[in-house]
Amino acid sequence: MEINEFKIQGDTNGVEWRVPILRFKGHDPKAPTVYLQAALHADELPGTAVLHFLCEQLRGLEKQGLIAGDITVVPSANPIGADQKIFSLNLGRFELGGRDNFNRSFPLISYDDRVSLLSKDTTLKAVDQLKTHLLSMALEADIVLDLHCDSEALLYAYICNEFWPRAKDLAATAGLDAVFLSDGESSAFEEAVAYAWRNCKEPKSEQRLVSTLEYRGERDVSQAMAKEDASGLVEFFKQRGIVSEKPAPQTEWQGVVVPLDDIEVIRADVSGTVLFHKNCGDKVDEGELIATVLTLPGRSENQQDYFAPQSGLVVSRSMQRFVHVQDQLMKIAGHKASKTKRKPGTLEQ
Ligand SMILES: [Zn+2]
Repeated sequence: MEINEFKIQGDTNGVEWRVPILRFKGHDPKAPTVYLQAALHADELPGTAVLHFLCEQLRGLEKQGLIAGDITVVPSANPIGADQKIFSLNLGRFELGGRDNFNRSFPLISYDDRVSLLSKDTTLKAVDQLKTHLLSMALEADIVLDLHCDSEALLYAYICNEFWPRAKDLAATAGLDAVFLSDGESSAFEEAVAYAWRNCKEPKSEQRLVSTLEYRGERDVSQAMAKEDASGLVEFFKQRGIVSEKPAPQTEWQGVVVPLDDIEVIRADVSGTVLFHKNCGDKVDEGELIATVLTLPGRSENQQDYFAPQSGLVVSRSMQRFVHVQDQLMKIAGHKASKTKRKPGTLEQ
């Protein structure tokens, strides 16, 4: 394993960020290459733990000469967000200076323009330097996995339509409960990678895959889970010939696959204390009570009940127990288009 880093000049004199890059050199130039990163939203740490144990397993495989394709790992992709500790809370989703979501506004460039991506680096704000460096590294790989998490959630992934169903091997080996088929209409990291590949003069490569993996909820950070999830990724690498070991026989993936239009994003229209009646992983029927918000506790008439708009699977819910108006309560993977209109792109800001 080789360790490098890239530097980001801060927006203030004397401030500099360093992002470690761990590289495993493959022995087969024809094998697919992989880029993985975690904690782009800096307070989403299950993926960082997964990549820590993935590197441990890869070092063992490296010693045995079993790494076929180059593997690049950035376990803590966002030191700017990691440092945003305000009133004891780590706020890692938005950059405080400009209110940018760290996983939006990635440059949408053609694949051929990737070589000039870093040329304007010194004139960019720190957050944009970070984005150009991450995208630049990702576009050198055939397979790009961006590890995030939800608030409280099952293990699920966003995958652009064009990579499905070829990505079923990832769903099976990573043990995904659900796949959300995205429309490719946002400027999230994953979709900037897909955009570049779509705008590429070279013939389309069947090896390519990019996905945002949501490793459950923010608090699902444990050694046992991270080791098992890392083993799932190694198994995926075996399936794709990145690790030259015989893959285990795979059974047909049994998870739920849903286009974004069929996801019910339930939002609060009042504020108060939320009582959930359903857990992540529960199946709900249309009209079933899923949550209650106590708007004025102690008074019987002041509570707001929320019901499932259609039957489906509860994939995620808020870890917060006080909600404000328009806060997200729950995501339900349904079977038909939601009546709530969705803007193209991502499900949330
Ligand atoms: Zn995230």
